[in-house]
Amino acid sequence: MKLLLGHCIGFDDQDQLTDTARGGLLIDQGVIQAMGDGAELVRRYPQAQVVDHGSSYLMPGFVDAHVHYPQLPVIASHGEQLLEWLERYTFPEESKYGDLDYACAQAEQFLDLTLAYGTTSAAVFSTVHATSAEALFQAAGRRNLRLATGKVLMDRHCPESLRDDPVSGYQESERLIRSFHGQGRLEYAITPRFAPTSSAEQLAACAALWDAYPDVLLQTHLSENADEIRWVSELFPASPDYLGVYEQFDLVRTRALFGHAIHLSAREADSLRERGGVLVHCPTSNLFLGSGLFEFQAHARAGQRLALASDVGGGSALSMWSTMLGAYQVSAMLGQALDAQQLLYAATLGGARSLGWDCVGNLAVGYEADILVIDPHATALTSQRIGHSTSLEEALFALIVLADDRHVSDVYVAGQRVSD
Ligand SMILES: [Zn+2]
Repeated sequence: MKLLLGHCIGFDDQDQLTDTARGGLLIDQGVIQAMGDGAELVRRYPQAQVVDHGSSYLMPGFVDAHVHYPQLPVIASHGEQLLEWLERYTFPEESKYGDLDYACAQAEQFLDLTLAYGTTSAAVFSTVHATSAEALFQAAGRRNLRLATGKVLMDRHCPESLRDDPVSGYQESERLIRSFHGQGRLEYAITPRFAPTSSAEQLAACAALWDAYPDVLLQTHLSENADEIRWVSELFPASPDYLGVYEQFDLVRTRALFGHAIHLSAREADSLRERGGVLVHCPTSNLFLGSGLFEFQAHARAGQRLALASDVGGGSALSMWSTMLGAYQVSAMLGQALDAQQLLYAATLGGARSLGWDCVGNLAVGYEADILVIDPHATALTSQRIGHSTSLEEALFALIVLADDRHVSDVYVAGQRVSD
């Protein structure tokens, strides 16, 4: 039993930001069992091991709803839009992940880096190789992370070395589901890359697999880029639009995660909302690859299920701080500026809920104890700015704009300090 003391920040029953300056979190069995005034909890639980984080913020860990771990080596590659970027940078790197040793080393490095930035849960793309998903599941399992991944399904319009077929893709995904889904905090995500790289047979196989294992996630891409959308309309001429392809194969359900989803028609947006699909906003990627401006505020007002994501390597940062800043910048471009409350909610509790993870993303009794210790004074720039802030919202917004991994001084995963 552990009692963490610090400036506790979370969300109340109305999903509004709430804080307790000298608060405490009692953790047992990886779950928050009590919270409130720190001194009071110290008196009530004399047997608990007290860890005092002083005036640092204790916050829920970040949720990254769309990220490609095998693209870490090609982050920050210059000068292409989506389809050329895949050909030139992504596919050559992804071709290496049939080698289990290489995949394991990359998975370890990816998780070390994401944790350093405060991301404690993620929905992650592996590559077409079952070994790549296996490597990440094992690395995440060792760290006891709540994480979903899946082997990419891709049976056409890609290099031979990255191609499966409808039957082998189904069988390998099923084997991975049986081995890893529900093991500890791990979950499986059926992962067709996007409509252009899966045949009709493969998309139909995805639906059959999902029918057989209805409690897994599905993750893919949707309406990221103009050339991509044109290509989809050529490949599936009978479909009314891009989303129509996924609808035709019954892949638009709750817990279906659609990365980007920038250029949606009114019909597509309505259909997504009615079917409960999740729109995953990838702002730094959309800016970096010049894909477009996602209308987060309008989608939120319309009641869409939303999440926030880095989309590394198209994204320019693993950090959810940078991702929130990107989301703010895009919303400012659209004249619909998001505030600190909305940004933090999307990066934690809101994203977690959209993914169906009702047990993470907040500091509240009953939640799994994925907790960040944030030092607002980690750099001189933030320290002076926080010193001039007059409200919690103002201080948090300044961190969203200015913070990086230096501000994440400690991370707890299911109550265990990562540095231990
Ligand atoms: Zn992506």
